Amino acid sequence: MKDAQAGGYAVGQFNVSNLEQIRAVCEVAKALGSPLILGTSEGERKFIGLKQIVAIANVWQEETGLPIIVNADHSRSFETAKDACDAGYMGIHFDGSEFPYAENLKIAKQVVEYVKSKNPDAIVEGELGRVLGGSEMHTEAIALKESDFTDPELAAQFVRESGIDSLAISFGNVHGVFGGRLEGSERLDIERLKNIRAKTGETFLVLHGGSGIPAPDVSEAIKNGIVKVNINTELRIAYIEYLRIALHRTGETTPYKIWPTVIDAVKKVVEEKIKLFGSGNKI
Ligand SMILES: [Zn+2]
Repeated sequence: MKDAQAGGYAVGQFNVSNLEQIRAVCEVAKALGSPLILGTSEGERKFIGLKQIVAIANVWQEETGLPIIVNADHSRSFETAKDACDAGYMGIHFDGSEFPYAENLKIAKQVVEYVKSKNPDAIVEGELGRVLGGSEMHTEAIALKESDFTDPELAAQFVRESGIDSLAISFGNVHGVFGGRLEGSERLDIERLKNIRAKTGETFLVLHGGSGIPAPDVSEAIKNGIVKVNINTELRIAYIEYLRIALHRTGETTPYKIWPTVIDAVKKVVEEKIKLFGSGNKI
């Protein structure tokens, strides 16, 4: 993350919950020589297993020689953050954005203290401002209120008092993608990002909901201080779409023979993103 900040590029966090998705992401990162963050939401890690994902990522790291971190995306409580840390996660994202500011700060501090005492090298991500929406296709507009956006002054205070390493911010980004007439309706407030960047020093700023944001806007955000971009929905859509096709077209009963086209579809998305983030050839 420090290298990314100094080099003006961003590291991708790709969310996964099964072996096929992990293979797709790791193979592309290997081919492009990119550092990698595997993200797992509370639901995703409950499905694959906390220790399981850490062990699988370690094997991929050993085989590829890439720095691969598993991040506990959107841990909504101290307990779920702690569980991930105890299982060996090197990235912990505590999302207290649904709580009032004081409560968010209090738990973020607790998470930092706990995680750093267990593993000083682990990265703790906090969140201030609300990144709305789930990782899915939206058919209705999501209206952001001023109070949903990250306040630059408050961000500076939050970072200083909590001791977090990185901060997920809300500056027009929404989780998920918008379909049909809404496509391209997501607008980033780059001025706000610049302001937050100026006030939060070396804190790693994170763009959540990277799916569906036009490439030039993502580039502009990276140019202005974003060093980590989270991608989930576009991977999910590619995966499900090609799985449906694969299952529909064939009477195949050997599971591993169904997956190659699905993995290829996910790989295409990952490749496009890593190239956009500029993290290739950085190992
Ligand atoms: Zn997110």
